[in-house]
Amino acid sequence: MTDSVTLPTKKINLYDYDLASLTSLMKAWGFPGYRGKQIYEWLFKHKVATFVQMANLPKQLRERLDAETVIGHMQQEAEQHSNDGQTVKRLFRLPDGQLIESVLMEYDDGRRTACISTQAGCAMGCVFCATGQMGFARHLTSGEIVEQAIYFARQLEAENDRLSNIVLMGMGEPLHNYDHTLQAIRTLNDPDGMNIGQRNMTLSTVGLVPQIKRFADEDIHTKLAISLHAATDEERNALLPVNKRYPLRDVIDAAKYYVSKTGRRISFEWALIRGENDTLEQAQKLGSLLHGLLCHVNLIPLNPTGGFGGAPSDPLAVSAFQDELANYEVTSTVRVRRGIDIQAGCGQLKTNVLKQERARRKTEN
Ligand code: SAH
Ligand code: SF4
Repeated sequence: MTDSVTLPTKKINLYDYDLASLTSLMKAWGFPGYRGKQIYEWLFKHKVATFVQMANLPKQLRERLDAETVIGHMQQEAEQHSNDGQTVKRLFRLPDGQLIESVLMEYDDGRRTACISTQAGCAMGCVFCATGQMGFARHLTSGEIVEQAIYFARQLEAENDRLSNIVLMGMGEPLHNYDHTLQAIRTLNDPDGMNIGQRNMTLSTVGLVPQIKRFADEDIHTKLAISLHAATDEERNALLPVNKRYPLRDVIDAAKYYVSKTGRRISFEWALIRGENDTLEQAQKLGSLLHGLLCHVNLIPLNPTGGFGGAPSDPLAVSAFQDELANYEVTSTVRVRRGIDIQAGCGQLKTNVLKQERARRKTEN
């Protein structure tokens, strides 16, 4: 367990625990170690929400768990459904008042993908991102990362469906919260628990170079995406302040290291901003940068946010950009951000709910 986040609750959040730490907790409480495994299965395999449902535990243990622990601690604060009914976005409140967002996307091919947050806010300050615009509040614990997925998995299982994929692309920079994120990935993946295949999980990073290399050296096989958005340092500095610390050359070197170490294809994210990074010149620079690397580019027309003046690219510019990349043998997919009508872009629901709260307070005063 790595837990440097202090929360105003005295109770243990069981979702922060893995099998080894639950087993130790049981022994410390004077119960046999195998009770840890039983609790683990109730939590992550059966995803029960109450201690009463943990039918194979003695009453005395259930009472102690009830007194000293909680099965997660998020409260749903707001919910929005997209018009097509395939995307639902939820805003959760944590015990210290922090708000985080999670999105569930249902696809026609049967995939059920949860987009989950790893931090409350973000310290990276990317200028077009609603989360970056609100600044950093704190890291989420691994339990808080996992609970977002459990919430959706429980709902889907009640409908005889199942959560199949996870993308760590909600609020926050996962590699800034490295240890908790890694622990969450392990919990989500465990075949004896949540059982979400590592290849069905994608971690997206703004490009923290030392952590990308560390991630490549781990014994886990989650997919990796790097948010690039510009192909020169000058332009990337203006969009992603972190580029001043880790310039493009180093980011590409880290990506090459990841590919050579893991043998896996790497993805690059590119938010297309009209007239800024959607020109043929930018496509050519990107093409030369990535030519020969085992990679794929995801082109996402910008999702406009309050704090940034840019607009999404026109469809014609998008396809011209894509054709130019193909000339460099760089494959790409255009992805329309799901749930645009419900502000499913990262950080946008929270921004809106906070605005509404402020307006309400004003009228009340
Ligand atoms: N911090 C990580 C993961 C969370 S952001 C990262 O930056 O990669 C997930 C993705 O959404 C990133 O690719 C990010 O650049 C992109 N993004 C953020 N705001 C956006 C917006 N307004 N329009 C389009 N993409 C956006
Ligand atoms: Fe943070 Fe990612 Fe948003 Fe940048 S795009 S501010 S890294 S969440």
